[in-house]
Amino acid sequence: MSDIELADYPLIAAGKVRELYSVDDDHLLLVASDRISAYDFVLETPVPDKGRVLTAMSVFWFELLAQRVPHLANHLVAWDDPRIPSEVRGRALLVRRLEMLPVECVARGYLAGSGTADYRRTGAVCGIELPAGLVEASRLPEPIFTPATKAEIGEHDENVSFDAVVGTVGRERAEELRATTLAVYSAAAEHAESRGLVLADTKFEFGTDAGGRLVLGDEVLTPDSSRYWPADEYEPGRVQHAFDKQFVREWLTSPESGWDRASEVPPPALPAEVVATTRQRYVTAYERITGRSLTDWPTAG
Ligand code: ATP
Ligand code: MG
Repeated sequence: MSDIELADYPLIAAGKVRELYSVDDDHLLLVASDRISAYDFVLETPVPDKGRVLTAMSVFWFELLAQRVPHLANHLVAWDDPRIPSEVRGRALLVRRLEMLPVECVARGYLAGSGTADYRRTGAVCGIELPAGLVEASRLPEPIFTPATKAEIGEHDENVSFDAVVGTVGRERAEELRATTLAVYSAAAEHAESRGLVLADTKFEFGTDAGGRLVLGDEVLTPDSSRYWPADEYEPGRVQHAFDKQFVREWLTSPESGWDRASEVPPPALPAEVVATTRQRYVTAYERITGRSLTDWPTAG
């Protein structure tokens, strides 16, 4: 139990799905809500337990990565601690405050999303030339580092070249980001594979601590930051069924929703069955990756 209330902490940032509070000079509280975003809109309908899934999954991965990539520090301090208010218990992490690097560090082992779009247009992703003849969801010859710049609210992240990252953070740090991103991706993809999942791609955010050391921050390897595909349904040449908001996207763009993506009008509320299916996809992703049950993870109150 905690006597602290969330309102006791100053809010320092609010993203589409998470809020960041200041706990003290050295610590932040990263709170994951049940909000879901699609096509750069935050939808009005929440997905129950989504915040718990993202939080529990990040914790699982931070702990696994501490073993698999032991030279890499991460920002996790605690997920059950008196400094975490009861009202957000289970969906909040106490983390070390970092100086975040302004680079979205993406690793891709497969072609999807903006990777496919860039490849179709240029034959390359972030300036990395790829073989001819790849299709949606093709496995790449080897995993690649495809950084992006963080977009302002409502804008898309923009893929950039490695040289652009060098320009932002310097060559040495850029090389460290690339090597670390690929090392973490490979360790995570190997674990996912052992659980019958393909980790197609994922995005990390890194920061530095007071000593200038690179530290893995943010959420890690969640369905919101990663594409997980069921390995037994993997079939290149079509968009795969990811363990995330794909049902939401498909419903929103179907005639049933009545929503026109090209309009600037926000999407409509989600029907109960789309919410239930989406919730189940998130929970299943967690349970398959971790081998744990979400019912064992703390809840608020
Ligand atoms: P969105 O993801 O909705 O486009 P966003 O990235 O600005 O917006 P969130 O992802 O919701 O917002 O919030 C997380 C924020 O916290 C990010 O800006 C991330 O860089 C920052 N962050 C994560 N870990 C730390 C940390 N240890 N220290 C400082 N900032 C952090
Ligand atoms: Mg973010």
